[in-house]
Amino acid sequence: MNILVSACLLGVACRYDGKSKEVSKIKELLKDHNLIPICPEQLGGLPTPRVPSEKNGEKVINSEGIDVTLEYNKGAHEALRIAKLFNCKVAILKAKSPSCGFGKIYDGTFSKNLILGNGVTAQVLIDNGIKVFTEDFYELLIY
Ligand code: SF4
Repeated sequence: MNILVSACLLGVACRYDGKSKEVSKIKELLKDHNLIPICPEQLGGLPTPRVPSEKNGEKVINSEGIDVTLEYNKGAHEALRIAKLFNCKVAILKAKSPSCGFGKIYDGTFSKNLILGNGVTAQVLIDNGIKVFTEDFYELLIY
């Protein structure tokens, strides 16, 4: 199966802080599946490292108050393009991210508070029929 995966979960240093968030159990899925890495924030044209951002209603605002909604939307649609190219029906995305988060995301106040919601890319993928999971729960889907 071709599975779209947040690149930072595979060890790619694409996070806002210039680091990765590797999860070895997800890398192990390579034994049985094709993992397609994407970083929507980079695909949207943002630099690495970059100023952290959070979703705030329909917008995404960084911690300096700059509106980066356009970049986030562009990255989401480029991620969708890659998902379609590889016929991915499933994605495993990084929890809580304003791009990749699914179910819970930060509330836009940069105070570590979580609210119900999906990151921009997660929502676009869901809207296009792709099943989204996070690194916290994905096993039931895969096996
Ligand atoms: Fe990881 Fe997604 Fe953030 Fe890129 S946008 S660093 S893939 S959580």
